[in-house]
Amino acid sequence: MGYEKNQMLTVEIVDITAQGEGIGKLDGYPFFVKDAIIGDKARIRVTRVKKNYAYGRLEKVLVPSPFRITPKCAFHKQCGGCQIQAMDYEQQLRFKESKVKNNLVRIGGFAPAFIDKIMEPVVGMEEPFHYRNKAQYPIGTDREGNPIAGFYAGRTHDIIANTDCALGVEENREILEVILSYMRNQHVSAYNEVTGEGVIRHVLIRKGFQSGEVMVCLIINARPAGNDCQYLPSQEKLIESLSKIAGMMSISVSINREKGNTIMGKEIHTLWGNSTIKDTIHFRDVSRNFETAGWGITFAISPLSFYQVNPLQTERLYSLALSYAGLTGKETVWDLYCGIGTISLFLAKNAKQVYGVEIVPQAIEDARQNAADNGIENAQFLVGKAEEVLPEMYEQKGISADVIVVDPPRKGCDGACLETILKMMPERVVYVSCDSATLARDLKVLCDGGYELKKGRVVDMFPMTIHVEVACCLQRTDS
Ligand code: SAH
Repeated sequence: MGYEKNQMLTVEIVDITAQGEGIGKLDGYPFFVKDAIIGDKARIRVTRVKKNYAYGRLEKVLVPSPFRITPKCAFHKQCGGCQIQAMDYEQQLRFKESKVKNNLVRIGGFAPAFIDKIMEPVVGMEEPFHYRNKAQYPIGTDREGNPIAGFYAGRTHDIIANTDCALGVEENREILEVILSYMRNQHVSAYNEVTGEGVIRHVLIRKGFQSGEVMVCLIINARPAGNDCQYLPSQEKLIESLSKIAGMMSISVSINREKGNTIMGKEIHTLWGNSTIKDTIHFRDVSRNFETAGWGITFAISPLSFYQVNPLQTERLYSLALSYAGLTGKETVWDLYCGIGTISLFLAKNAKQVYGVEIVPQAIEDARQNAADNGIENAQFLVGKAEEVLPEMYEQKGISADVIVVDPPRKGCDGACLETILKMMPERVVYVSCDSATLARDLKVLCDGGYELKKGRVVDMFPMTIHVEVACCLQRTDS
């Protein structure tokens, strides 16, 4: 195309990729530029040239976009955890809506005017920072040999010190400072990924936003020293300081002696307090602007449990899913890909019977415990693949469905799962999705098979990132 590596060019950023990179065009030829924002006029350096497109590095913003703002976090470019922090939050929401719409049109084959008609207003956050209830900080060493906590720079495994992530809770900083000062005073080493030596690898912190309960788990490369449950040198000093932090309810270690990228080890030992913290997810009234409406479900969360990281938006998303399910108390409802039963237990409040299906056995154990703890008796949980359990229960046991809710991982629903849904023909299907491309693909199958897309709504679970969550409601056309 006549462009060369290292060439300097001036481009106007006219669009944005699904990954959040700015797109600049010269004579129709696109340049993908990380950290550039729609509306920027920018000086870029060409870094890689392909046949139909090229990559460029943002060298200088010549004329800033009206949507460009000063990011809260000084490290946002290096960190990569937030891809679009320099974009005004309202514009982030527009970006997410149009990403979903484009996929529904391009992949799902829906008409643009139809999508505009059925999509409800995006559910954004009033305070789009400090929303995460969970943080996992890698521990390392700086050039002088001091222990540091921070984040991995870009795609590397170099740690940049920062104990104050703008998405996390304020307790993170205090907890990390306590751990780092303990490491300095007691000469406890940080784990070194290259040599496999050193002790402290990661720190996991979780906070129940409703309960105020805080949990800290140190992931360590160490073997228990004997029967005295001594996992770390002078660990009582560490426990003494950590336990004084407001809300602290649980201090544990997780043993991970393996090389590799897996953060958590399977073996967890509670050193102080409880083995879990509690948190409650409340139902919110969708028709009254998501006001809290009385009841909630309380969950016990261990260091290894899966639990949604943005509790406020989770309440809104689940309440929306429940309202899309349109339950009256008489229905048999399936919740496929149910995790620890979060959505299932919401549904159980308004259904006759709920069946939850999930592939991870530990999550199903948690789901059963959560049901029992909340006094919910009309929810049954089954371990297995949705695409295997659902046909089995329908074809061999004759169990039907009035409503089916699915919340699959990014790759979407398996073909066999969709096929069974089309055989069972529930009145409504509620599709909760974290990837609008596979959502669009699956909606096409359901709509070709006898369903009509009635409503859809984007819920911003991950402000400052490119991730999008969306809920859709489908109705059987012949009913
Ligand atoms: N609805 C839950 C979890 C959604 S995440 C919540 O909101 O908390 C998607 C879940 O699907 C994960 O728990 C994952 O373990 C599970 N999963 C992945 N593939 C699956 C399959 N083929 N069948 C059933 N569950 C699966």
